[in-house]
Amino acid sequence: RRRIRRMTKVELHAHLNGSIRPATLKRLAAERGLDAACLDRKRTLEVCFEIFALIHKCVDSLEIVAVIAREFLEDLRADGCAYVELRTTPRALQGRTEADYVRTVCRVLSEASGITARLLVSVDRSRGPEAAAKTLAEVAQLRRSDATVDRIVVGVDFSGNPTSKHGFDAFEHLFREVRDQWGLGCALHVGETPRSDGDSAKILAFAREKPRRVRFGHALAFSDDELRGCASLIEACPSSNAATLDLARLEDHPRLWCHFHSTGSPPLAICTDDTGVFGCSLAGEYLKVWDAFGPVDLVRVVDDAAAAAFDACCGEAVRRRRAMYNV
Ligand code: 5GP
Repeated sequence: RRRIRRMTKVELHAHLNGSIRPATLKRLAAERGLDAACLDRKRTLEVCFEIFALIHKCVDSLEIVAVIAREFLEDLRADGCAYVELRTTPRALQGRTEADYVRTVCRVLSEASGITARLLVSVDRSRGPEAAAKTLAEVAQLRRSDATVDRIVVGVDFSGNPTSKHGFDAFEHLFREVRDQWGLGCALHVGETPRSDGDSAKILAFAREKPRRVRFGHALAFSDDELRGCASLIEACPSSNAATLDLARLEDHPRLWCHFHSTGSPPLAICTDDTGVFGCSLAGEYLKVWDAFGPVDLVRVVDDAAAAAFDACCGEAVRRRRAMYNV
């Protein structure tokens, strides 16, 4: 277990605000006199989104955004993480613009030491396609004018409350542009809840066109047959998925089970999703998988994740840390 804690890891699915340290969140909520009772409730999807709303009330300045990003990078480094793709939804805060938000996060990530950090800009589906188009137009402009942003932003994430009325089809043209014109990666939340409007089928078809440019977040509602032969990596988040699927045992996690027990399933990465919401950690997620499915080849899981990173420099970051710590 000590070796798993120390082993070199890669984090591909972590939301910045959801990764706020619980102690930081409690302190900020108390300072603002906010009701934090939702933190004591069982983590259903609905409660998680109540907690995100609380976090967003607490993280109300770019200074605090920078603090939570630095704290999370520190936690990841302590957990053996060599490379992270952090994702976040740009917000205009206290008179500063969404572009300022992206610039701030990129600065913090570019200054990280002992870990290589990149950014995925999140599109929150609940804000609708027009807001997403506006945000992405600003990011495109920033990538042209700011070399740090250009280096650090490596993809766009499709997230937000999956029960919102907006399906993937309303955003598909934007992700096509990101993938085909910007040449960046698309990390798409899919199959968190069974949607009736064919969202999963559309996302799967989009991924099959260029599987290496697309990763799936969670992908819980896909059938094994739908995924067979698909080369896009699945970002599995054990604690988060166990909570939203209400699993009594991680052994029943459909994607992890399939990955470790059957052949032909897509590559998979072990990720945290929202350490601050689920009270988890990257090393802890690896240990949970080991306890539920071990002995399994966790080094191969890391290698698969590194191969699916949207910046090729991930491979070098992993090699460097392995050489330094011999694990
Ligand atoms: P932020 O983007 O503000 O840094 O991180 C919090 C946001 O990430 C949430 O408001 C939500 O839009 C998104 N998010 C975090 N976890 C999940 C998840 O498990 N599923 C989905 N669909 N979105 C999530």
